[in-house]
Amino acid sequence: MKRIVIKVGSHVLTENGKISKDRMASLVELIASLQHTNKEIILVSSGAVSSGYTQLKLDKSFIPNKQALAAIGQPLLLRMYQEKFGKFNMLCSQILLTASDLDSRKRTEHAKQAIEVLLANKVIPIINENDVTATEELVFGDNDRLSAHVAYHFDADILVILSDIDGYYDKDPRKFVDAIVFKEHGFLDKKSLTSEHTPNNEFATGGIVTKLQSAQFLLENGKAMFLASGFDLSDIKSFLIDGIQRGGTLFRV
Ligand code: ADP
Repeated sequence: MKRIVIKVGSHVLTENGKISKDRMASLVELIASLQHTNKEIILVSSGAVSSGYTQLKLDKSFIPNKQALAAIGQPLLLRMYQEKFGKFNMLCSQILLTASDLDSRKRTEHAKQAIEVLLANKVIPIINENDVTATEELVFGDNDRLSAHVAYHFDADILVILSDIDGYYDKDPRKFVDAIVFKEHGFLDKKSLTSEHTPNNEFATGGIVTKLQSAQFLLENGKAMFLASGFDLSDIKSFLIDGIQRGGTLFRV
C-alpha cells in the first residue's frame, strides 16, 4: 500500500462543539509517521462547519447558514492543520472539491495533476467539499462518498475512514450489546446499503450507510476500504504501519 486516503469525520474532530486540538494533533502525528514510511497520504477532513460555529452562532438547521459557517470555518480549520503539520516540518494544502468536479474527466485530471505535484513534494493535500457550491456533505454524507471518489480517481490503494465507531458490526452496536464486529467484509447486500440512517448529532449526517455505500463503490472498482476508530488510533496505526490488523473492518474482495 503506497497511496492512502484518510477520511476523518466531524464526530471525531469535534468535541463540545469545537475542533479537538488533541485529536487533530494525534491524526497529524499519525500522518507524519506514515510519511516516514514512504506512504503518500491524502486527507479528507470535515470540521469546517463546527469551526465556523465557534466564531458565529448561526442556526445550523438552515442549510445556507451551514454553508456560511463552512465558509467561515474552512480557513480556520486549515490554519489549525498548518500549525500542527508545521510542528513536523510538513506542509499541507487545501483542495475544495464537489462530487460534480469528479464527474468531469477534465476537472478530475486537473485536480489529479495538482495532487501528484503536491504528493511528489511531500505536501499533504487536505480535501473537503466546497460547501458553498455543493451541499451534499451538509445534507448527507459527511464526506464519506466524496472520500471514496477521491480514493478511486486519485489512484489510492485504500480508503481509511476514521469514525466514531471502531468497525462495522452485524447490527448497530450502540443499540445492541451483543453486536459482533466484522473483521473483514466483502460486497454488501442491498438492504444494508439502503437502510434508514439517523444522524446522531447536529454536526454529522453520515451514519454507517454512507460508509457502506463508499465501501461498495470501492469494492466494485477493485479497491479496498478500512473502517476504524478515530478516537483511538492504535488500530489504524498497527494496520498501516506494522501490517497487523488488531481491530477495525477491512472491506475487500
Ligand atoms: P462519523 O461521524 O464518525 O463519520 P457516524 O456517527 O455518522 O460516523 O456513523 C457511525 C455510526 O453509525 C456509529 O456510531 C453507530 O451508532 C452507527 N451504526 C449503525 N449501524 C451500525 C453498524 N452495523 N456497525 C457500526 N456502526 C453502526
